[in-house]
Amino acid sequence: MGRHSLPIVVAIDGPAGSGKSTVSKAVAQKLEYAFLDTGAAYRALAWLMLEEKVDTGNVDDVLVAARRDFRYSIGTNPHGYFVKVGETDVTDVIRRPEVTAAVAPIARIPEVRAHLSELFRTIARQTDRPGIVVEGRDITTVVAPDAEVRILLTADEQVRMTRRSAEIPTESAQKVADALRTRDQADSRVVDFMSAADGVTTVDSTHLDFEQTVDAVIDVITTRTARNSHND
Ligand code: C5P
Repeated sequence: MGRHSLPIVVAIDGPAGSGKSTVSKAVAQKLEYAFLDTGAAYRALAWLMLEEKVDTGNVDDVLVAARRDFRYSIGTNPHGYFVKVGETDVTDVIRRPEVTAAVAPIARIPEVRAHLSELFRTIARQTDRPGIVVEGRDITTVVAPDAEVRILLTADEQVRMTRRSAEIPTESAQKVADALRTRDQADSRVVDFMSAADGVTTVDSTHLDFEQTVDAVIDVITTRTARNSHND
């Protein structure tokens, strides 16, 4: 079997508020690729811990509860996104600020990261579409370092805060900015998603609108996949 029987993997990393999720989903829709939001798994696990009142600071308790009850499923069709734990649809509830705030101690646990990374690789391999856009913090470096296309999506901090604040009109801009900064700091202690690793293309969306960012990402994918097929 030639390598093209495997789906093309487009790995996209970046900080909170860079537009990663919405841009990745739109790119997948345009290319008719699948779409995998990896942050949703970390969020769903945090939701489960809150639901079961597990002390997220206790690594053993987290691992016991995760092994026992984390039956996770996610929709990878970019037109039919959902996230479930067991039979419970958690698509919306995992976006709540209290869940977002509970993710960091869980995302720090090496066993959790290893298990979820393997799950992401399995999901990516199993897609029936020609490609899959996988977005997160460590996709270009840990989950899929051999992906055909690896992109770091960035934007200046001020722009990311303004965008995120517009998404959460119920909270003050200051509160949103503080939460985003705290989260970036906690996350960047676990994986470096602020600078591009070797072979990773940076797309800076600071001065681009949404459509321009989608087009810039598609340009990188087109260039990369064309170059790779020449090298076959
Ligand atoms: O991308 P999203 O904001 O949904 O991610 C939620 C949290 O999950 C991040 O703040 C980070 O702590 C964690 N995460 C991670 N590695 C990934 C994706 C998300 O550690 N690949």
